[in-house]
Amino acid sequence: MQMFRRLWHKVLDYVFPKNCLGCEREGEYLCSSCFDKMEYLDRFSCFICNSGAFESGICPDCQDKTGIDQIIVATKYSDNLAGKLVEELKYSYLEDIADSLGTVLVNQIEKKGLRTTIENKTIVPVPLHKKRFAERGFNQSEIILKNLINRYSLKLRKDLLIRQKSTAQQAKLERAERFSNLKDAFSANDKNSIPKEIILFDDVLTTGATFTEAVSALKKSGVERVVCLTVCHG
Ligand SMILES: [Zn+2]
Ligand SMILES: [Zn+2]
Repeated sequence: MQMFRRLWHKVLDYVFPKNCLGCEREGEYLCSSCFDKMEYLDRFSCFICNSGAFESGICPDCQDKTGIDQIIVATKYSDNLAGKLVEELKYSYLEDIADSLGTVLVNQIEKKGLRTTIENKTIVPVPLHKKRFAERGFNQSEIILKNLINRYSLKLRKDLLIRQKSTAQQAKLERAERFSNLKDAFSANDKNSIPKEIILFDDVLTTGATFTEAVSALKKSGVERVVCLTVCHG
């Protein structure tokens, strides 16, 4: 099986040569020199009002607008290779790209000294609605998390959060619409044990509407603390 898979990848590489999404050099989807140029967010300004620098990523004034306890962002979305990689991964299952994005997360966690915040925790990828999952065939968040799960001994719980509403695509909506579009989009599945603390992962953060709605569903079911983790902030 392993051999067949390797062979199949060789065929694919032959038919579709890989080009770096940064500099277009042939060979890999992301060459090491482009990867090294990736800029990490140095300080976490409030993700809602964009002010200041806060360890939690949320200023005290905005804290009552969201149940998120802490938010960790690796890099920015626009004018940045990470944004391009995330986009690419939405449409094609490319493990190389997912691995690179996983490494971006690990690098930021280490740079910021956040290992203890992540290690041994329960991680929940924001689910896609089953309709979108069926169209795409995979949840890009889950493949990004593979390395992270091994490295930090995370417990993956895909059963905890359910996307019950097939929402219009967020990218096409204005800020206020994004919040109403997602109202009650999630519910928590409390048939199994509920951990007190959760790391919630999504590939991109824009207004934070998705995270905020998902966190509120988790907290209703008894979760006490939720740290949101994301590759880039759009
Ligand atoms: Zn390159
Ligand atoms: Zn704020």
